[in-house]
Amino acid sequence: MQVADPLARIAALKRSLGAVILAHYYQDDDIQDIADVIGDSLKLAQEARKSDASVIVFCGVHFMAETAKILNPGKTVLMPDSAAGCSLADSCEPRWAFEAWVRRHESLPLVSYINCPAWVKALSTVICTSSNAEKVVSSFPRDQAVLFAPDRHLSRFVAERTGRRLVPWDGVCVVHDIFEEKRILQALRENPGAELLAHPECPVGILAHAHFIGSTTGIIDRATAPDARTNTFIIATEPGVIHEMKKRAPGRVYIPAPPNQTCACSYCPYMRLNTMEKIAECMERMEPRIDVDIELARRARLPLERMLEISRN
Ligand code: SF4
Repeated sequence: MQVADPLARIAALKRSLGAVILAHYYQDDDIQDIADVIGDSLKLAQEARKSDASVIVFCGVHFMAETAKILNPGKTVLMPDSAAGCSLADSCEPRWAFEAWVRRHESLPLVSYINCPAWVKALSTVICTSSNAEKVVSSFPRDQAVLFAPDRHLSRFVAERTGRRLVPWDGVCVVHDIFEEKRILQALRENPGAELLAHPECPVGILAHAHFIGSTTGIIDRATAPDARTNTFIIATEPGVIHEMKKRAPGRVYIPAPPNQTCACSYCPYMRLNTMEKIAECMERMEPRIDVDIELARRARLPLERMLEISRN
C-alpha cells in the first residue's frame, strides 16, 4: 500500500481534526513552512492562550507543549516526539535540590524562565521569556533581590540590564553555552563589517563582542531591519532562525556562529527530533499527548498569566 507523503497527510488531518500547528523558530525549515504560527516562546504561549482550535500540535520541545496545555486545560495538545526535552528544563533536577534552594531563599520572589518544567512554574512568582525578562524583573521594586532560574547566563545579563540583584540557579542551554569566544572572534575577523547578534543565553565572553543582544525574535528583527547598517550577520543562536531571516530579507548573508571544537553545528538536539513524518503520525494516532495534573496546572497557570499580563502592558 502506498502511504501519502507527510505534507498531504498533515493537511488532511488538520482539516478533519480542526487542529492548529504551532512551531518554534528552531524547527526544521519544512516544519516552519507548514505551521499556522511560527514564533518564539512568548509568541507561542500567547497564541496557545488565544487559540480556539480543539487540537494544538506543538512543534517545539516538551516544556512548550506543556505550557500550551497548562494554558488550555480543556484542549488536546500533541507533540511529535515525546523525547524532545530541553537541557535548561532538565537542569532544574534533582527536584529536591531545586526545592531546597527555593526554601533557603523563601523571602525572595522566584522568576523562572519559561524553559522549565511545570513543577518549577508552580513554585514561581512569575514566568519570563528572553523577550520580556528585563520587563518582568523590573516589575519588582528596585531594592528587591530576586531568585532567577534556571539559566545562569540570562540571569547575569538581566541583572546587568536592570540593575537588580538576581540570585541565579546554575543551569545552561547546551546550544548557547558552547559558543566559543576565540572562534567567534575568528568569524568576525573573516567577515569584516559583519554584526554579531547574540542570544542572552550565551556566555559573557560571547556577549562582550556582540553588536546586538536579544531574544530569538529580537535577533530576527535586527537582522532583517530595512535600515540595517550591514548586510552580513553572524548569528549566535540556534540557526533555525535563519529560515525566517531569509524569507524576510532574502538578499543578506547570515552566518551561523561557530560552536566549540566538540560540535559540528549548533542545532538544538531536542528541537530537531521533530520531523514531518512524526507530525503526521502524532496527528493520526492522537499521541504523544501532553497531560498535566489539574492541581499542578492550576498552580503553574498563575505565574504564566502574570507574565502574559506584564507583556501586554
Ligand atoms: S535551544 Fe537550548 S533552551 Fe532551547 S530547547 Fe534547545 S536546549 Fe532548550
